[in-house]
Amino acid sequence: QATIEVKDLRKRFGSTVALDGMTFTVRPGRVTGFVGPNGAGKSTTMRVVLGLDAAESGSALVAGRVYRTLRSPYRHVGALLDAGAVQPSRSARHHLLWQAHSQGLGARRVDEVLDLVGLRQAARRRAGEYSLGMRQRLGLAAALLGDPPVLMLDEPFNGLDPEGMVWIRGLLRSLAAEGRAVLVSSHLMSELQDVAGHVVVVGRGRVVADTGVADLIGRH
Ligand code: ADP
Ligand code: ADP
Repeated sequence: QATIEVKDLRKRFGSTVALDGMTFTVRPGRVTGFVGPNGAGKSTTMRVVLGLDAAESGSALVAGRVYRTLRSPYRHVGALLDAGAVQPSRSARHHLLWQAHSQGLGARRVDEVLDLVGLRQAARRRAGEYSLGMRQRLGLAAALLGDPPVLMLDEPFNGLDPEGMVWIRGLLRSLAAEGRAVLVSSHLMSELQDVAGHVVVVGRGRVVADTGVADLIGRH
């Protein structure tokens, strides 16, 4: 089963407590929102799950195992972290071809994901000319390349115009409906309430609510 299980993660950066007992589970088949103010520990949690950062204690499992992004030839987890950071001189297609190659995938899959994210027309332009919204689409395309059962997307709504917001919600819902576990972070509940069935609300490195989105909105 493609789940993400985060249990009692603790981590400091110097004297800053980033994670203070972070605990939650992401189940397949629905979009789970990960919401909380900037600095609440969302990105750090995702980096620990991916094995890009180490926690001082606690555990993070993907499908019951410790996940190591850099060691996995096949990407079980598709991640979008910091979409702003792309090589500006390369075209989107070049970017994706290179990543596809490292996963043993070919140009046909690159064109499929370019279509999925609506970048086919712009695919041969330099990524440096892209808007933030287009870079988000490119990051999402890269995350989807290996058709992973688990998706972790950090602030994927940043820079999208209203049309892009509608589009990405539909895409995330259908990716989850196909049985994937989808974790999507935002600092704004309003960005998540129409797409996430379930939300994990965090503050200061820990979970403050873990509930169906209807319950959360009803309470306010
Ligand atoms: P969020 O994604 O919810 O905005 P982060 O996980 O980025 O939160 O940050 C959690 C806390 O850890 C913040 O106080 C942040 O400043 C700190 N932090 C995150 N990464 C680093 C780092 N590389 N060096 C120092 N402090 C960091
Ligand atoms: P081991 O520690 O058993 O050598 P590796 O990390 O080398 O495991 O991975 C072995 C295989 O399992 C690789 O194909 C890798 O992609 C896959 N794998 C690693 N972590 C996970 C995970 N959390 N879920 C599913 N498959 C995984």
